[in-house]
Amino acid sequence: MSIKDSHKPSIPFCKISLQGSELDHIAKAVSEGHLSGNHFFTRQCEQFLQNSLAAPKALLTSSCTHALEMAAIALEIQAGDEVIVPSFSFVSTANAFAMRGARPVFIDIRPDTLNLDETKLEGLITEKTKAIVPVHYGGVACAMDEILKIAQKYQIPVIEDNAHGLFGKYKGKNLGTLGRLGTLSFHETKNITCGEGGALLVNDPEYFSLSEIVREKGTDRSQFFRGEVDKYSWVGPGSNYMPSELQSAFLLAQLENADAIQNKRRQIYETYLTGLSAWARDYGIGLPFIPEDCESAYHLFYLLLPNEKKRDELMEHLKQRGILAVFHYLPLHRSKMAKQLDSGGGPCPVTERVSAGLLRLPFYNHISEDEQHVVIEAIQDFRRF
Ligand SMILES: *Cc1c(COP(=O)(O)O)cnc(C)c1O
Repeated sequence: MSIKDSHKPSIPFCKISLQGSELDHIAKAVSEGHLSGNHFFTRQCEQFLQNSLAAPKALLTSSCTHALEMAAIALEIQAGDEVIVPSFSFVSTANAFAMRGARPVFIDIRPDTLNLDETKLEGLITEKTKAIVPVHYGGVACAMDEILKIAQKYQIPVIEDNAHGLFGKYKGKNLGTLGRLGTLSFHETKNITCGEGGALLVNDPEYFSLSEIVREKGTDRSQFFRGEVDKYSWVGPGSNYMPSELQSAFLLAQLENADAIQNKRRQIYETYLTGLSAWARDYGIGLPFIPEDCESAYHLFYLLLPNEKKRDELMEHLKQRGILAVFHYLPLHRSKMAKQLDSGGGPCPVTERVSAGLLRLPFYNHISEDEQHVVIEAIQDFRRF
């Protein structure tokens, strides 16, 4: 091993970052004597989200997957229904609805933002379509005006899977608050985390009480807690989608520092963009794109290589230098489950091309500029095109 090898940097793809008051908040939760959910810290987090997003109602959940399941239950999705989801997304975007019996109908993505291609939307709508689920990839908004207009025309609810886009904006409005319901993720890989966690944003008052019932195992316990009913009982469908106070206490510490986290992530994004623009132009490599009317949540930074072979070669080239860059979603429409469910939708050639060529770079809240420059230089060293 040469001296150079022994000084290999080791830069992971993702790492949790503490804001400082997480453990103090958890100690407070323990000393308050409540570890189950819907107490002080759960409500503080919900208040924070409602205030900072101007959201009518935020319900903390055990994950974004669970928030999506709650949305499917609240919409009374059932066997025979169809739900339009992008093929280029995480499994849960489709699975939460498939679990209620719905057939996923996959829509392709735009090559610029990698968000669902709104020009393909209307052609996929049938009598059976019961929901449209846009995903704001990387924290950059879908073309929501066009999507909402089509949804309005056919009276189909829009559920935003906003796992990437907390604090991102579309024409000045907060992502997650534009659809009838919106979901958030606080998984360890997301901008703001409590390990496992999420939230359901309820933007339509028609779903306020039902969403609480769904989260509380099908009971009106939330109303009971507020003194609105004198007993609580089984009143509807539901499960246990409540995070514990320990998770909420951790999460509040992160939310309280949301501005600093988002500012840092914008800097990380811009450092990559500045450092890699010339190289990307020279070799015809795609970089993330933020349309004029969007403010990104800066969830990730990626390179779009011309094909899978080049992507894998660059991934290996970086790995040799101790840098972990990773690919992302495999097309859902090609999955085993999609075949089993006899899923619908058109061909998704952009999804397939993007899935094969996309490489995500290390991106976490405390990555240093020096580390980023190590990544940038290692990429610039790759010229095998
Ligand atoms: C992470 C993610 C989810 C799932 O989030 P969990 O909180 O882990 O359940 C859903 N959709 C998208 C687009 C995601 O990136």
